[in-house]
Formats: sequence, structure tokens, C-alpha cells
Amino acid sequence: MPTITLVQGDITREHADAIVNAANSSLLGGGGVDGAIHRRGGPAILAECRRLRAGHLGKGLPTGRAVATTAGDLDARWVIHTVGPVYSAAEDRSDLLASCYRESLRVADELGARTVAFPAISTGVYRWPLDDAARIAVETVKTAGTSVAEVRFVLFDDRAHQAFAARVG
Ligand code: ADP
Repeated sequence: MPTITLVQGDITREHADAIVNAANSSLLGGGGVDGAIHRRGGPAILAECRRLRAGHLGKGLPTGRAVATTAGDLDARWVIHTVGPVYSAAEDRSDLLASCYRESLRVADELGARTVAFPAISTGVYRWPLDDAARIAVETVKTAGTSVAEVRFVLFDDRAHQAFAARVG
């Protein structure tokens, strides 16, 4: 099981082997953490996303899946893009949110990444309640069976940090 650490701050300032992006399925950029990663990481990331769209991801990246690109100018070797589910009170999409963490760690294992930084996937524009998102994130990482040594959750604000801290213990 990886060591789980928590940091409050901007994930684009982190040093890690891989930084996970809460992308959308277009892979062509968006707001929130996605916008921040492309801004600080520079155009190389978008260029590689475009190549993926022109290749085997012609229809975009499905929700719950993950794919790696260069990290451009970020202090990392790779960005792993994953697409979180939009929260729905009517439908339980927890498996898709868990899949984002599992698939990102699977891709990290394939790359040989030992340290991976995650944002709180789906808790921004996609409106997933923080406490529930934190529970799913921490449980999934603990049971993923990954060779990643450190999973670092990088929480943008105090509320998110508290929600994750309550789950990590
Ligand atoms: P989603 O569409 O998956 O909800 P968002 O980017 O809107 O993605 O939000 C996901 C989480 O990332 C939110 O908790 C938001 O506060 C946080 N966030 C936004 N910018 C950053 C950043 N630079 N570093 C870390 N977390 C961020």
C-alpha cells in the first residue's frame, strides 16, 4: 500500500513523478485544475493531448479512464489525465470516481512512477460532495494494489484538506 500524504496548495507547484489532472473527456483543456496544469505546464501537454485525440482516443477519453502525457514545464515526468464523473444525486457514480484513482495508478505503474500527486477529482465543477469524494479517494488508493510508493493528495483549499485529513486519519 502506498504511503498517503496530504498537502494543501496548488498541484502545479508540486514535484512528483506524475501529476494527475482532473481533465474532461475532450482532453483539450478546461477550467479548474485542468486549466492550471495546461497554463503552467505549457503547450507541450496540449500538443500531446491533440495527438492522442488524432489517434486512438478519437472520441475522447471515457469517464473513469486515464492516459499519460509529458508534463511539459511542470516539475514532474508525466501528467496522467483522468476524467471524473459529474456528481448525480439520482444515480450512484461512485464506481466511476473510484475508477479514476485506480486507472491513474495503473497507468503510473506502467510508467514506473513512484510518487503520484492527485487533486480532489470531481469536487469542483463536477460538484461531488467533498466528504464522499475523500472517502472514495482514500479507500481506492488503499486497496489499489499499486507499486506506487507515495500518493500525495494536493488539496486546493482548507475545506478539501480537512475532508481528506478526516479520512486519512
Ligand atoms: P472537476 O471537473 O473534476 O470537478 P475541477 O478542476 O473543477 O475538476 O476541481 C477539482 C478540484 O481541484 C477542486 O477541489 C478544486 O478546488 C481543485 N483545484 C482547482 N485548481 C487546483 C490547483 N491548481 N491545484 C490543486 N487543486 C486544484
